[in-house]
Amino acid sequence: MRYYDNVVDLIGDTPLVRLNQVTRGISATVLAKVEYFNPGGSVKDRIALRMVQDAEEAGLLKPGGTIVEPTSGNTGVGLALVAQLRDYRCVFVCPDKVSEDKQNVLRAYGAEVVVCPTAVAPEDPRSYYSVSDRLTREIPGAWKPDQYSNPANPRSHYEETGPEIWKQTDGRITHFVAGVGTGGTISGAGRYLKEQGSVRIIGADPEGSVYSGGSGRPYLVEGVGEDFWPQTYDRTICDEVVEVSDSDSFQMTRRLAREEGLLVGGSCGMAVVAALDVARRAGPDDVVVVLLPDGGRGYLSKIFNDGWMARYGFLSSVDGEPTVAHAL
Ligand code: PMP
Repeated sequence: MRYYDNVVDLIGDTPLVRLNQVTRGISATVLAKVEYFNPGGSVKDRIALRMVQDAEEAGLLKPGGTIVEPTSGNTGVGLALVAQLRDYRCVFVCPDKVSEDKQNVLRAYGAEVVVCPTAVAPEDPRSYYSVSDRLTREIPGAWKPDQYSNPANPRSHYEETGPEIWKQTDGRITHFVAGVGTGGTISGAGRYLKEQGSVRIIGADPEGSVYSGGSGRPYLVEGVGEDFWPQTYDRTICDEVVEVSDSDSFQMTRRLAREEGLLVGGSCGMAVVAALDVARRAGPDDVVVVLLPDGGRGYLSKIFNDGWMARYGFLSSVDGEPTVAHAL
């Protein structure tokens, strides 16, 4: 019989898929590392597993313990599915701007969700930062992974994601492109790849975020960009950071679904825009690998919704289609 003992064993070893349509006119090979094949549907399953394992080894998380994290999305799903088999309780704290659908996904995995007001300062006791700190203090046996400062986050990519890519490309990778959120992916996988050979590491960042020189001004693409410099981001790894607009990110996200059969999230579209920019400057022997962090089902009412796209003025140039008027 061939089977996995449990879903946690399905984490990692995600496939590389060549992009064929959006790369027309480009001579370099562009390969997407498709992270929605992880059991929780995103790259964050990898760090969830490693952060929990490390906390267990360090004695920070003991049988019957509780995982408390301010998260509304992918990291919560990863932590929830890793926690189940080990009988940990999960309490996730999220701001009230997070859609009910996202909260319900976390509840479906058995987590408790505490919702906090968005319109208060981070130091306000009602803010989701303050509430998660308080719950960590008050709940006996509570542990907060803190993906923004936890070294297990970049290390999981150094030990798994990077080596997978190197092996899958037979060491022929010349460029690695990934969006930067906590910076764990680019710092960990990027460092591993740089140590193997002369691989150029390119970060993709939303316009307005600090990584590409912005001031933290708001943007709509989710999961990437920051208004502060997290400890998990190693500033020595990126050779280049490409800044991408919301509009370009979302239009590429829609093209990936329609032209490549890849229904992925907005940060994937963003990373592919940056990867194509790099690939256009590369030659026929170059191999550009771009990491796609999650799937697109969580974005159906936004990026894949014509009305939402039109409201923000993102629809006008989608493949030149006359969808704007009818969406309005
Ligand atoms: N895209 C999405 C959808 C994410 O959730 C994240 C993680 N915040 C990223 C990209 C960026 O990954 P990292 O945190 O490793 O920089």
